[in-house]
Amino acid sequence: MTDIFAKFEGLSRAASHLMSVAPRNPFDVVIERPLSATIGLIEGRETLLFGTNNYLGLSQCPEAISAAVKTLKEEGVGTTGSRIANGTYGLHRQLEKKLAAFFRRRHCIIFSTGYQANLGCISALAGKDDILFIDADSHASIYDGSRLGNAQVIRFRHNDPADLDKRLNRVKDHPGAKLIVIEGVYSMTGNVAPVRAFAEVKKKHGAWLLVDEAHSFGVLGENGRGVAEQDGCEEDVDFVVGTFSKSLGTIGGYCVSNHDGVEMIRLASRPYMFTASLPPDIIAASAAALEALQAQPHLRAQLTQNAGQLHAGLKKLGLSVSQHVSPVVAVTLPDIPTAAGFWNRLLELGVYVNLSLPPATPDERPLLRCSVMAAHSPAQIDTALASFAKAAQDLGVLTA
Ligand code: PMP
Repeated sequence: MTDIFAKFEGLSRAASHLMSVAPRNPFDVVIERPLSATIGLIEGRETLLFGTNNYLGLSQCPEAISAAVKTLKEEGVGTTGSRIANGTYGLHRQLEKKLAAFFRRRHCIIFSTGYQANLGCISALAGKDDILFIDADSHASIYDGSRLGNAQVIRFRHNDPADLDKRLNRVKDHPGAKLIVIEGVYSMTGNVAPVRAFAEVKKKHGAWLLVDEAHSFGVLGENGRGVAEQDGCEEDVDFVVGTFSKSLGTIGGYCVSNHDGVEMIRLASRPYMFTASLPPDIIAASAAALEALQAQPHLRAQLTQNAGQLHAGLKKLGLSVSQHVSPVVAVTLPDIPTAAGFWNRLLELGVYVNLSLPPATPDERPLLRCSVMAAHSPAQIDTALASFAKAAQDLGVLTA
């Protein structure tokens, strides 16, 4: 019998190596229970959460919780079917209308996760005669969407519109459609895309532009419509993809567009058609969270202030922090043992962040990925900074 697990040998060695430098498995942390948006019980201790994507703290939104409980009682725990069979309820349609109105677009399609929204839209939009241009630091869901489709795939340098322009020039006579995919805010580094500059390149080449605003929806732009709103170039973005699992605090994904043709995705996208739709309580909670997001613009202002506090504080400590100030604040460390030891020490000190390792990180370098919430108090951010200072000192990684 051929060993079916032999392919995991390299992975297994890497995991054992990681466990030899840090006593805890960073990919198997159990939050026994969230006590609030910012505090969770880990190993029986109250731990400050700085590694979630709960940017506005809406996972604990009282209106969303009430809406979910009410809907759960009225409509049950699941739809038991896909959007194209028995899985579209009135609530799904209502939320699609609400999101379309929020983004000022004619069409909205809801998927069961943000991952599936990228997978489903990219694979359906870029067909076999087309060319897909993706940023080298794209999220796994974008890479996987490019594999599921049949288009030729060309990667361009991260956040580099000039490099994209050059690559588009090389295929200028290709008769198929050209789809460019970028993210508003990059999930690992917090880098913000120059969306307006990318939009100029797309117009020059008659290409299409899809922006994944997963980490910028509800976070950036005057009304929270993301980096395209902040850059004032929404009309040049053909498709906006995003997720409910970050700023709305629930689960689900969406694509909004003004192009009528986008509706065909409902009949052409396997990740839309062949999976069960979101349960009604989650749809109701997402709608209530969207209303809360719109009714409380001060959350966005608080988030920006908190992100600035954490970013400036880490920089002052002498750590190597993200280039841009956004709610994703990443600290780059020189090697995996140092990063794993640092991550472990932070948890011992009562602060949970994400340990991100290559190949999921750019430049083959490990990161401690922190995410900031509007719900964090300035005192909680100061506590986290003090823990970073202590861990950096203990590990001998302070450069200033
Ligand atoms: N796009 C990006 C940029 C992401 O970071 C993520 C999740 N980390 C997704 C899509 C997928 O979203 P979800 O977790 O809601 O499936």
